[in-house]
Amino acid sequence: MAPSLVEDYITRPSNPLGRYYHKILEGERITREEAVEIYNSDDLLAIGILADTARITRTPADVRDYVYWVHNFHINPTNICEANCRFCSFKKGPKSPFAYVMSVDDVIEQVNNYPMKDSLSEFHIVSGLYEKQGLEYYRDLFVALKKNFPKVHLKGLTAVELDYIAKLEGMTVEEVLPILKEAGLGSLPGGGAEVFAERVRELVCVDKIPAQEWLRIHGLAHSMGMQSNATLLAGLGETPEERIDHVLAIREQQDKTGGFMTFIPLNCYYDNNAVDAANALTGVENLKNFAISRILLDNVPHIKSFWIHIGEKLSQVSLNFGVDDIDGTVVQEKIAHAAGTDTSQALTQSELVNMIRKAGKIPVERDTVYNIIRVYDEQLV
Ligand code: SF4
Repeated sequence: MAPSLVEDYITRPSNPLGRYYHKILEGERITREEAVEIYNSDDLLAIGILADTARITRTPADVRDYVYWVHNFHINPTNICEANCRFCSFKKGPKSPFAYVMSVDDVIEQVNNYPMKDSLSEFHIVSGLYEKQGLEYYRDLFVALKKNFPKVHLKGLTAVELDYIAKLEGMTVEEVLPILKEAGLGSLPGGGAEVFAERVRELVCVDKIPAQEWLRIHGLAHSMGMQSNATLLAGLGETPEERIDHVLAIREQQDKTGGFMTFIPLNCYYDNNAVDAANALTGVENLKNFAISRILLDNVPHIKSFWIHIGEKLSQVSLNFGVDDIDGTVVQEKIAHAAGTDTSQALTQSELVNMIRKAGKIPVERDTVYNIIRVYDEQLV
């Protein structure tokens, strides 16, 4: 929609969301009560306009049409896990015929077998909680990855995994994190946050660290100069208000420690796990989650739609609902696919570029911390 049409639509007297348009344009913070009103509106077009206005207002003019992606490779060293998250389809018991454990050499070989390894910029490393993969394993893994692929950033270990490794070793996260940083760890992924509401956590991930500890570990990483991401896993039976409170908890933490780069609203899948598929998000709810995250998070620069979870087409639509990042090439995604997502396991770089271009945006390859690697102008494919 042309800018004047957008303004006409959102500010017409009969539109109750119009007042938030001016508030966002003027850089005023949206409150919880206002967010609930926006989220509960049926006017999806107006919600998209508010989110896109928030994105545009808070983004420098010369990069406003940029949509970022990263050439990354997912490493999941084991699927054995001691926890029992009801939404997890990835985890296996140690005696399962489908359980696997990768040695450091196995991981290096797996990456070496990837034909495009020389242009990778990120390893995304998350795994199960497994007693035989403690601090020594991860230190050795990070050292080996850095030795073999020195230019590739290591983003790895959720706050849940860090807490597990620290407890396994009889140490604190404060003691473990500097050792892993020294070994090459560059930043933390956003996983393990799920939904912060205690009511929901007691139902679906009772043995995971509570919200406050997840936030504290990210704050700790930020204080050590490491940036991180944050996620929301929706579709677990949470209410819209609980989704909004989750986003607000990230905003509050960011006010204190300032190291979140990207917020990633995810949606649950229901194959091979114990969560009722009746909780599945609609496409509209997915778009509302992206939009409300952008509207509320005036202090987090990027909102990502993970195309692996929502598919390429809804990812394209999400670019009008506050999203400016669609993750990456993702080689060998295992976790969402174990739960039934039917998207492809990887997109080539040219497929990603075309997907962004067809949505009317400028594709930009970035590294983990948003240094620009390449802007894909018309000549580049
Ligand atoms: S979500 Fe993570 S911590 Fe929970 S069971 Fe699955 S692998 Fe384990």
